Amino acid sequence: MTDPAQAPVIEIRDLHKAYGELEVLKGVSITAKRGDVVSLIGSSGSGKSTLLRCCNLLEDSQQGEILFKGEPVRWHGSGHHRRPADPKQVLRIRTNLSMVFQQFNLWAHMTILQNVMEAPIHVLGRPRDEVEAAARRYLDKVGIGDKSDAWPAQLSGGQQQRAAIARGLCMEPEALLFDEPTSALDPELEQEVVKVIKDLAAEGRTMIIVTHDMKMAHDVSDHVVFLHKGLIEEEGAPAELFGAPKSERLQGFLRSTS
Ligand code: ADP
Ligand code: MG
Repeated sequence: MTDPAQAPVIEIRDLHKAYGELEVLKGVSITAKRGDVVSLIGSSGSGKSTLLRCCNLLEDSQQGEILFKGEPVRWHGSGHHRRPADPKQVLRIRTNLSMVFQQFNLWAHMTILQNVMEAPIHVLGRPRDEVEAAARRYLDKVGIGDKSDAWPAQLSGGQQQRAAIARGLCMEPEALLFDEPTSALDPELEQEVVKVIKDLAAEGRTMIIVTHDMKMAHDVSDHVVFLHKGLIEEEGAPAELFGAPKSERLQGFLRSTS
């Protein structure tokens, strides 16, 4: 049995996922060890969001394994009938992999502070005082400590996304999963979110980042995965992948994004 402290935070082995007849992931394997930043790039529809959502079991998959800190997800049934067998395991994995979405998904009827405090209190059952102190610390960390009493609609997109990151951090997760965190933002606001992500990478956070921002992927990643139609077409260290792409598809993709 692997020591959980040594095992990768997330390991996906040969994952297959279909929506009905549509095969979206056709045997994909990725690993994020503690402190790794893994970026997923590829054209729209290549399966990036689906892969990310499979990591924290927001989506079912039909074949292949998902391991969290060396612990395999236990399944019930097989193929199109396969589901996670243990709701407690699902909850433990999901609460340890905080997801940050393109559209922020803040609750409009709660203040920024309430948004950040909600899940640690109501999902994890942590004490309110402790959670509030942590929430204020994380809001400061992402540079919006002065916005704690504001409503989401009163914040810019960049501030809302930073609030969503603080909300993810306040769960004290093992890893953060980002799905195009800067795609909904104007270029000048994009940079304030990129800076927060760079700071998190520098402090050794484990992250999987789906992004169209090749500069950020180049600058923050330990490993970059290029997905094409549900398969890994090429992967490697950012300097190799961006500096000397081997596959023609990746070369074409990089030309189309620059
Ligand atoms: P990406 O994030 O790389 O743009 P997605 O993972 O969102 O790609 O989608 C991969 C494919 O799966 C696309 O063809 C998309 O239309 C399809 N798809 C995504 N979500 C669903 C769904 N809930 N039901 C059916 N098809 C879906
Ligand atoms: Mg997507």
